[in-house]
Amino acid sequence: MAGEPQADCLFCKIVAGDVPATVVRETETTVAFRDINPQAPTHVLVIPKVHYPDAASLAAAEPKVAADVLREAGEVATEEKSESYRIVFNTGSGAGQTVFHAHAHVLGGRGLQWPPG
Ligand code: IMP
Repeated sequence: MAGEPQADCLFCKIVAGDVPATVVRETETTVAFRDINPQAPTHVLVIPKVHYPDAASLAAAEPKVAADVLREAGEVATEEKSESYRIVFNTGSGAGQTVFHAHAHVLGGRGLQWPPG
């Protein structure tokens, strides 16, 4: 069923507590944890607890949870004292998506170039 945990999904395993993660925030619908390969002093992933392969499919099926992810991204930036930050949703392997469970990258703590590569 849509949104159900997937046995082969790394981020579903983090939600379940079966894979360890450095969790910085958790709500009823989301988990935020530090990226294992940080690209900036602040690099936190905010994920929905429900499983959807990318941000757009999450927003289409469960818009409130998608809004929760965005709100939590802002809360992470505030907690990290990142006044300027970037929220990134890589979508599709050509855009660098490697984990097919919707997630927001929250990047901050340094100057960020535009356009991204
Ligand atoms: P994507 O490339 O946009 O799909 O982002 C996936 C992110 O997950 C990458 O930045 C990885 O470094 C990160 N990642 C992969 N495995 C883990 C983990 O076990 N803990 C935390 N972050 C992870």
